[in-house]
Amino acid sequence: MAEKLARLNLHRLQDVLFHLPLRYEDRTKTVAIGSLYHSARVVIEGVVEHSAISFSRSGRQRRRMLMVHLADTSGAIKLRFFNFSKAQQETLCKGSRLRCYGEARRVSNHLEMIHPEFTKLTDQSAVQDEKTLTPVYPTTEGVHQLTLKHLIDQVLALLNQADNDLLTDYLSGAATTKLPFTQSMDLKAAINFIHRPPADVPLTALEEGVHPSQQRLAFEELLAHQLSLQQLREKIQSQAADVLSDGGELLQLFLKRLPFALTSAQAKVIEVVKKDIALARPMLRLVQGDVGSGKTVVAFAACLMAVNAGRQAAVMAPTEILAEQHFQNFSVWADVLGLKVAWLSGKTKVKQRREMLEIISNGEASIVVGTHALFQNDVAFHHLSMVVIDEQHRFGVHQRLALKNKGVSAHQLIMTATPIPRTLAMTAYGDLDVSVIDELPPGRTPVKTVVLPEARRPDVIRRVHAAIAEGSQIYWVCTLVEESEVLQCQAAEETQILLQEQMPEFSIGLVHGRMKAADKEAVMQQFKNKDINLLVATTVIEVGVDVPNASLMIIENAERLGLSQLHQLRGRVGRGSAASSCVLMYSKPLSSTAKKRLAVMRETNSGFDIAEEDLKIRGPGEVLGTKQTGMMQFRIADIVRDEQLIAHVHASAENIIKDHSEIVEPLIRRWLSGSEQYGEV
Ligand code: ADP
Ligand code: MG
Repeated sequence: MAEKLARLNLHRLQDVLFHLPLRYEDRTKTVAIGSLYHSARVVIEGVVEHSAISFSRSGRQRRRMLMVHLADTSGAIKLRFFNFSKAQQETLCKGSRLRCYGEARRVSNHLEMIHPEFTKLTDQSAVQDEKTLTPVYPTTEGVHQLTLKHLIDQVLALLNQADNDLLTDYLSGAATTKLPFTQSMDLKAAINFIHRPPADVPLTALEEGVHPSQQRLAFEELLAHQLSLQQLREKIQSQAADVLSDGGELLQLFLKRLPFALTSAQAKVIEVVKKDIALARPMLRLVQGDVGSGKTVVAFAACLMAVNAGRQAAVMAPTEILAEQHFQNFSVWADVLGLKVAWLSGKTKVKQRREMLEIISNGEASIVVGTHALFQNDVAFHHLSMVVIDEQHRFGVHQRLALKNKGVSAHQLIMTATPIPRTLAMTAYGDLDVSVIDELPPGRTPVKTVVLPEARRPDVIRRVHAAIAEGSQIYWVCTLVEESEVLQCQAAEETQILLQEQMPEFSIGLVHGRMKAADKEAVMQQFKNKDINLLVATTVIEVGVDVPNASLMIIENAERLGLSQLHQLRGRVGRGSAASSCVLMYSKPLSSTAKKRLAVMRETNSGFDIAEEDLKIRGPGEVLGTKQTGMMQFRIADIVRDEQLIAHVHASAENIIKDHSEIVEPLIRRWLSGSEQYGEV
């Protein structure tokens, strides 16, 4: 048993107390069948009026199932079982009195429960309603809910005996800022409540998560996360870093040669970076800027601060195509300044790679641009002092770490085009300082977005004709449900052929992820030169690509993409002075979340609003792409719901670090023990 519990990170009694329910079920009262409604999860009791095996015909398959009609004095409901034993079928026979727990669903004009839990009632058996709401715990194979429930019952019993030191309330002293619930709600009461909420607490109130007990624990959990992130940050920043220059004449010359003036937002961020790198500890700064806000210029400016001090800078991008684009931009800018830029990607040929490794290690290359290939073991830098990471959310925490190890403790500038709402950024990236480029270069017109069903394809083609006639260029993006890149690329190839047949007078190009780098580059160059009118692409163009004359984007099956992906794609248009538009085509049927996403896209162009909506629709784990790493998995806190706690959490964390450092470790151990990932963030 101990072995199985260890898989749930349950080692000590305290761990059991902090193994919190995922949700609750209300089995405290038996509900009249006549009062049921769709999606109610309830206990019912009734007598079987009819029970028979029948077959469902969905598609080609016939499925055997047992249909049971259950009635009480108020009404009737159907119970449907797809899997059932002979013995169960006998239990469910006509005349049996049953007690069931399940979710009622409306199916055409009647209510059903599919696979309810059930027990047969006999005259002797007096089944009682549960006295508290029933917690449902996170569990693992081989550990039954009931086992956990009994285990927790035992530990709660111990806790509630007089004289025990099972649970220390670290926040009872002066450690935290004054919060109404930390004063009124003591930890022991909160733990008792969370595991066994009394029957008179409405389930809906619990689901909202705003009960003082829930808030008390959520606060402590957020605090523990914050303390752990701060600790990490201190560890990183206690290392010495090179003190760099403010970029000097190099930077001035670069800015003078740019064909445009910096936006004030860009200038502000560059100034902040100058301050960061003037200190002998590593900069850890996250720059958020909407698609097209001009992050590349800021990245190059940061690189020059290292180069001007005689050091190297590295720029890492998540995809080959984006890294190439940076390489091209950087090479042009560096040329003017007489600097050399090296290139390194996974696809770099052996001979070129050897040359590149040589100029990286002897310092001839001032700036190195590439994909994560930059951080393989055989890459040795001459003296790396600045690392810029573009599109941060695409990189795992591990890659960030790997690159930290290259320059003993290089300054880090992390750029993300997925604007993250402030509270989420603070919580998720607690180890980073955050700056925002909250302004687009002048002369941009917002992209007008329309949402059309697949059936309107002829209209879309007419639109394409009109746009090309006006001299503008078009992206046509293909998406596919399957995660298979091969199939995506095939679909794009087929689309290109079909569109070319329909519009023989235009030049239609194709770019996808499986093309050779040189071919991709050639196509992108043709598109830039306006030799291609319409570019069919897979989602590889999602990030970074910059062709200002493109003013129309068509996205096929837009319903398959997430909000941030759609926003990134749409950011490819609206970069020139012409009014741009984006057509989101969808196929029916649309799920309700897909419908919401498309509506959000139609209504707003602001990356920040979109990120907020995204968070509401999907939840933080998915937005940050950290579901797998567990980085954002909370037991009870919810950073969207608990937003109003975050300021208190930050203030309290500061307070604790300053005056109550003895409780830092115990709090982190209580809430984060076992999540090894944390040590590596
Ligand atoms: P992103 O933030 O999406 O990486 P880019 O750095 O690719 O944006 O910039 C988008 C476009 O805006 C590029 O064509 C770039 O040259 C241009 N740009 C950047 N800064 C300015 C500015 N201050 N004024 C005008 N155009 C700018
Ligand atoms: Mg960019």
